[in-house]
Amino acid sequence: MSPVLWVTAALLALRLGGELWLGALNRREVRRHAGRPPAAVGAIMDEATYRRAAAYTLVRSRFGALTEVYGTLVLVLALASGVLPWLFIHLTAWGAPGTTWSQALFILAALGLLAIPALPFEWWETFRIEARFGFNQMTPRLWLMDKLKGAGLAVAIGFPLLWALLSLVRWVGAAWWLWGFALLFAFQLLMIVLYPKLILPLFNKLTPLPAGELRDRLMTLGERTGFRAKAIEVIDGSKRSGHSNAYFTGFGRFRRIVLFDTLIAQLHTDELEAVLAHEIGHYRRGHIPKMIAVSAALQFAGFAAVAWLAASPWFNTAFGFPAGALAPAFLLFALLSGVVTFWFSPVLNFFSRKHEYEADAFARGAVGGAAGLVAALRKLAQKNLTNLTPHPWFSAFFYSHPTLVERERALTKA
Ligand SMILES: [Zn+2]
Repeated sequence: MSPVLWVTAALLALRLGGELWLGALNRREVRRHAGRPPAAVGAIMDEATYRRAAAYTLVRSRFGALTEVYGTLVLVLALASGVLPWLFIHLTAWGAPGTTWSQALFILAALGLLAIPALPFEWWETFRIEARFGFNQMTPRLWLMDKLKGAGLAVAIGFPLLWALLSLVRWVGAAWWLWGFALLFAFQLLMIVLYPKLILPLFNKLTPLPAGELRDRLMTLGERTGFRAKAIEVIDGSKRSGHSNAYFTGFGRFRRIVLFDTLIAQLHTDELEAVLAHEIGHYRRGHIPKMIAVSAALQFAGFAAVAWLAASPWFNTAFGFPAGALAPAFLLFALLSGVVTFWFSPVLNFFSRKHEYEADAFARGAVGGAAGLVAALRKLAQKNLTNLTPHPWFSAFFYSHPTLVERERALTKA
């Protein structure tokens, strides 16, 4: 076995080991508190809800561990069996030698094939676990339609994008990866604008928030805080899940606020106002351009890595592909970069949590107090059966938001 494969195997094992170990730590912590929740939690949830949240956390965590083991096995099997080089030879034999479209087709076909083994697990999660805790609202038909639409979109968007990326070598030569980065970055900025207009409506119905007290309050809040949204819209998230959320999309003059119908059903006007103030806080504190810049920097590094790996004969050949072929290097990078980026997640999540604190502080100032936001966050934790007592290492690694106990402490501090 080549050293490249040994290193790959070691990295895969390290990530899986890290995930399983942190998950096990977290389950032990949840079980430790399950009998007697800590005092700070008593104010947020009654004991029955807390026990239900603990049960939900444990079921999902155990299932998550199983999913990770299975996903790693599928990936190892795909890499070791030689099926991917076989697919490459057969698909690229279709076109004239070296045609770009057949290479793009190979990447899409390989990713599509590798997505199939995960489908039973996704089904189980939706129709067994989420359903058991009363969250799932999907019918099997809707689930299937979602998958088909997702696959259709992946081809409709992915194929031309991959074709363009792979063609760049021919068009601009060795600097292709700089242009590739620029192309992908421009595409993503475009998608921020187009996604809510073109793609979201394929899956959900968006309706303008009807005139009334809520709309007036939210529009006034927007004006007061210097956030003039083009539209406030309600999305029918309840079609799929009882989980609730709020977000706003877009930038510049394209920004719009999207509220889940589940959120509107669960919260009072004061609480919704505080949640929106939090979202505006992300905007006003400049979190969006910061996150875009960080993700651009990561993608830049990603493109540099693909260019380097594609130019290194030992990389492709270790996995059974012809040396120097760009499409296999892209695919292998897509499949394997996670074993490295996984270890960056605590850093990214640290900054994400910092942003959450800043947005909370902004919201407190914007609505004149913490009461509305605290009430909203408590309700959301109850309705979503949020785990309020994660293991500190688990939350440090995986949590993009501070725990509710931490957020309340920060919000009620002078
Ligand atoms: Zn936030």
